[in-house]
Amino acid sequence: MEEMFCYQCEQAAGGTGCTKVGVCGKQPDVAALQDLIVWGLKGMAFWADQARQKGSIDRDIDVHMVEGLFTTVTNVNFDPESCAEVARKTARMRDKAQQLFEKANSGPFQGEVPEAARPWQPAGNTADLVAEGRKHPVKDSSIDPDVKSVMEMLVYGMKGMAAYADHAHILGHDDDAIYGFLHKAMAATLDRSKGLMDFVNLCMECGTVNLKTQQLLYEGNSGHYGHPQPTKVAIGNRGGKAILVSGHDLKMLDELLKQTEGKGINVYTHVEMLPAHGYPGLKKYPHLVGNYGGGWQEQYKEFSRFPGAIIFNTNCIQRPAEVYKDRLFTWGLVQWPGVKHIEGWDFSPVIEAAQKAEAWDDNPQKEILTGCGHHAILGLADKVIEAVKAGAIRRFYVIGGCDGAKPGRNYYTQMAEQLPRDTVILTLACGKYRFNKLELGDIGGIPRLLDVGQCNDTYSAVQVALALANAFNCGVNDLPLSVILSWYEQKAVVCLLSLLSLNMQHIRVGPSLPAFVTPNVLNFLVENFKLAPIGTVAEDIQATLAGR
Ligand code: SF4
Repeated sequence: MEEMFCYQCEQAAGGTGCTKVGVCGKQPDVAALQDLIVWGLKGMAFWADQARQKGSIDRDIDVHMVEGLFTTVTNVNFDPESCAEVARKTARMRDKAQQLFEKANSGPFQGEVPEAARPWQPAGNTADLVAEGRKHPVKDSSIDPDVKSVMEMLVYGMKGMAAYADHAHILGHDDDAIYGFLHKAMAATLDRSKGLMDFVNLCMECGTVNLKTQQLLYEGNSGHYGHPQPTKVAIGNRGGKAILVSGHDLKMLDELLKQTEGKGINVYTHVEMLPAHGYPGLKKYPHLVGNYGGGWQEQYKEFSRFPGAIIFNTNCIQRPAEVYKDRLFTWGLVQWPGVKHIEGWDFSPVIEAAQKAEAWDDNPQKEILTGCGHHAILGLADKVIEAVKAGAIRRFYVIGGCDGAKPGRNYYTQMAEQLPRDTVILTLACGKYRFNKLELGDIGGIPRLLDVGQCNDTYSAVQVALALANAFNCGVNDLPLSVILSWYEQKAVVCLLSLLSLNMQHIRVGPSLPAFVTPNVLNFLVENFKLAPIGTVAEDIQATLAGR
């Protein structure tokens, strides 16, 4: 008997779904609580969307939608008590949204209210909430499998978008259009009159709104910390006490850097925090000394070797080893049972843990380049365009997305190694750790490997593509540009939707296709977007160089 069902990420067991326990470590109780959160958010969205149609909005409801969705993203929250609290808040916010509508409407709703939008009393105890969650599983045999497939793609896309909206909100940047879309599209998943193309269209709209969200976040990050600049980052260690920061949130890193100033503690970035080194407002701190480790899936082994305190501000956290668990902290929406959680902005416990821990030896190593966002690349636009016209640059490759633990991801390493030397690779997100320490050289002073940034900097890569298309007076699909994605979790889903919303063709996706995509939906994507699974490196190089 299935104890849970989840197929939202690339690790889905057997390529179909996790049924006993998540490959990620998600336990059945947490899976049920997260199903309850998503179901409850749909009900809340029904009322929030109706209220918006009457001109009434409430920022607490908007922010809860974003935080609730982000809580259920892969590798974010593994703590049942914390998930139960989010579920209880969802029920309260549903009530608030209904009241908001009824006030704006001067009376009750006339029509049928979906079950998820009807009042439900959250049980006081977590076990009862788990039992409630089991009544609202992801699987629903009453819905056509292809419709369900696209509906889940939409929900996972919104989960990814919510992560970006949350970072932007933390920086004080909000956009009503983003919240409005999330409510509308979550509510649409309760509407049984909607068909396949309704959800396809919502997926495309999700991609468009995601680019707006990523732009909002880019403006928030660059507004606070300046435009990223090409920056060499040390990957060795420097002698002294140490803190390692993992995740995506720049403001959290900034606050930690302020609070560690003058304390003799070196701060290192991990995985998706690497691009932080490119922001002038962060690289100004002399004690932000370098980047440590490989992909997130290496943390068990690599954190065991890191001597200081470690803090996660977003995904991807994994079950910690005992050797570092007492030096491990979470912040924001990330939680792991038994791991100390920092509420708010006081990082004293992390600093104390670093001061108590052993110091690291001095062991300088090589440097890697980051900070090559669209602002920096377009600063070189004349040089780049000249190199393309002269034939020095034959083709651009965007090779990015998330890294993961399953075999088959050495495809991305080999692709970077084997691409002809007259090609340039733009990379983003943590998939870059498959090849970002390779020496790939340069073309007339233009590095062959340009690290555009985090996964949210898909926006930046799109700006480069649009600027090139403008310079060459052609469409994006006519550019000498190929996109090869690695996917793992829901942020990669929404980045793909954004590229599809721009009608980008011939995107390759790997290392395996999502379990939630049915054969018919895959055929639809192949026919309409020429989307393809990755093949062999040699075949894909040959095909992409030929423009396919
Ligand atoms: S998030 Fe991925 S690994 Fe975790 S339970 Fe769901 S499908 Fe399985």
